[in-house]
Amino acid sequence: MDLIIASNNEHKVEEIRSMLKDEFDNIYSLKDKNIKIDITEDGDTFFDNALKKAREIAKLVDMPVLADDSGLIVNALGGRPGVFSARFAGDNATDKQNNEKLLEEMANIEDRKAYFQTVLVLYKQDNSFISSIGKTEGEILKCNRGNNGFGYDCIFFSNQLQKSFGEATKKEKNSVSHRAEAVKNLLAKIKND
Ligand code: IMP
Repeated sequence: MDLIIASNNEHKVEEIRSMLKDEFDNIYSLKDKNIKIDITEDGDTFFDNALKKAREIAKLVDMPVLADDSGLIVNALGGRPGVFSARFAGDNATDKQNNEKLLEEMANIEDRKAYFQTVLVLYKQDNSFISSIGKTEGEILKCNRGNNGFGYDCIFFSNQLQKSFGEATKKEKNSVSHRAEAVKNLLAKIKND
């Protein structure tokens, strides 16, 4: 069976591809299928946004669609940036601008607890879907550590790895990440479906 990942974020696509490569014959990105679309993520929850992305792409292809919506939830900021993680410093903000804004807001805050969350929606050709959640806990660092990964990886210290996601190899991040846990939970649900 084939699968398409409903994301323009090449980092996410690469991570998900490496986790699911043994489960599908071909895993396509939107770019592979020449689909140029920017879906407005205006939902109140990760689930709403993931379902919207999956549904929109399902109208354009004839294969199951996997959508990922994720973000960083910071305890001391009442859960922000949350669903606004990609545009914390404004629409079209870069990862660097988002990280700088977060470090600024956290400058005098002692409680650095945070977690990443991913919601996956697998949307099938019969319009039914399966969803799953993954979470990974850590702390917001006071400055960047490492250059690997994307988004907030360089300022997120993983409790499980005892290093930042920016310092972790792809394999290390994929062994503990929110996305990996969501993929694992999704596969378990698919097998019971
Ligand atoms: P969205 O899921 O496309 O709405 O964007 C999620 C945003 O959350 C990304 O742009 C990143 O800023 C952040 N994010 C999601 N997953 C990760 C991750 O694995 N590492 C670092 N940042 C992430």
